Amino acid sequence: MSIVILGAGVVGLSAAVLLQSQYPDRKITILTKVHPAGDLSAVNDEDYASNKAGAVWSTSADDQYPHVRGFCEATYHALWQLARRPELAIMRISTYELKPERPEGWTPPYVSAFAHDFRIVDREPLFGSGSYFGVHYKTTTVNVGKYLKVLADLFVSRGGHIVVRGVRHIDEALDYDEDVRVVINCTGYGAHFLGGVDDQNVYPIRGQIVLVKAPWVCMRISMGWGPKAMTYMIPREDGTLILGGTYEANERDIQPNPRTADAIIERCKVLYPELVPADGSQLDIITTVAGLRPARKGGVRVEGETIVRNERSILLVHNYGHGGYGFVASWGCADRVYQLVEEFLHSRRIEGAGSSLAGFLERVEGIFDNASQE
Ligand SMILES: Cc1cc2nc3c(=O)[nH]c(=O)nc-3n(C[C@H](O)[C@H](O)[C@H](O)COP(=O)(O)OP(=O)(O)OC[C@H]3O[C@@H](n4cnc5c(N)ncnc54)[C@H](O)[C@@H]3O)c2cc1C
Repeated sequence: MSIVILGAGVVGLSAAVLLQSQYPDRKITILTKVHPAGDLSAVNDEDYASNKAGAVWSTSADDQYPHVRGFCEATYHALWQLARRPELAIMRISTYELKPERPEGWTPPYVSAFAHDFRIVDREPLFGSGSYFGVHYKTTTVNVGKYLKVLADLFVSRGGHIVVRGVRHIDEALDYDEDVRVVINCTGYGAHFLGGVDDQNVYPIRGQIVLVKAPWVCMRISMGWGPKAMTYMIPREDGTLILGGTYEANERDIQPNPRTADAIIERCKVLYPELVPADGSQLDIITTVAGLRPARKGGVRVEGETIVRNERSILLVHNYGHGGYGFVASWGCADRVYQLVEEFLHSRRIEGAGSSLAGFLERVEGIFDNASQE
């Protein structure tokens, strides 16, 4: 029995290492258009969003559907636990999600029910010249380059195969070899174009960010959401800081715009004047990139279907359309994939994070338990 996973972004890799830890004797192959290597500009492909992400756990999926929130909540707890493992390059931080004013009819976001140190910020003078309305809580950020590499290396070191090959039609995965029993479709924006899937609900939301060196900024701040622009800062464990950003639905240009980069830096300086180095020198800019959040009308699609090929039943699980919350939902979605696979292969129902958070966390942590000795 072999498993094929399409896609090696954070969604595909998370599913891959989780399935591998549950089925250590199965052959698992990832087919991906691009190799999951490196940070930010190392891979510049419209079908690869994961290395461009700020990768903070945030309430970016708050206006989405209940099934999305469940995946996000589970992942909040998983990333919080995994942050105790320095090799994963995950850092616990404070975050402020702010607006200039309290919107009419505002209610606390769903994160208020479970996040550490959650509190409402009601017109407090925090930094800069403004006083703000919003929320504060503790969360995590992921240093994407290191994290994706750890997942990919772990997968390969345990016998997984990563094949750099784009497929045009889902049939190419179903027929990859004669032992295929399970295919997981984690193609992100690629699901819009993949033959046999052709999901026209999938669309890009362009985001541009600037990476700077600013180890003195240790918390995340995000301010408002304009129709196209937003202002945020996301620190990473290596002293670098992501400044953002843009949120441009149906824009597909992955070349960064220098004027947009300047505007992002200026907005961040106004929001948080402490961003400017204390000695008055220029900010140390490392790079600026643009990527496409693989969004989907209706929210992320995580569901299975059974396909019969040459008298063989194959489970096809879709896991794409994560928009601006691929890291935020990654482990929750991976675990749902595992539940579907286990039901298909062994007719066994696994309790998900919603009914057994401890069991879910044990599965995710179990992936990394012996990794350092391997
Ligand atoms: C500027 C920016 C900031 C962001 N900030 C955050 C954040 O703070 N938090 C957060 O959670 N998310 C954030 N995101 C969103 C996040 O990057 C995505 O949700 C996430 O990367 C989606 O992961 P994925 O694995 O589904 O897709 P991708 O990373 O795009 O990977 C898709 C994979 O499928 C492969 N593929 C596609 N088509 C085919 C095909 N036909 N054949 C073979 N392989 C194929 C690709 O090669 C790739 O390996 C941000 C995104 C951007 C652009």
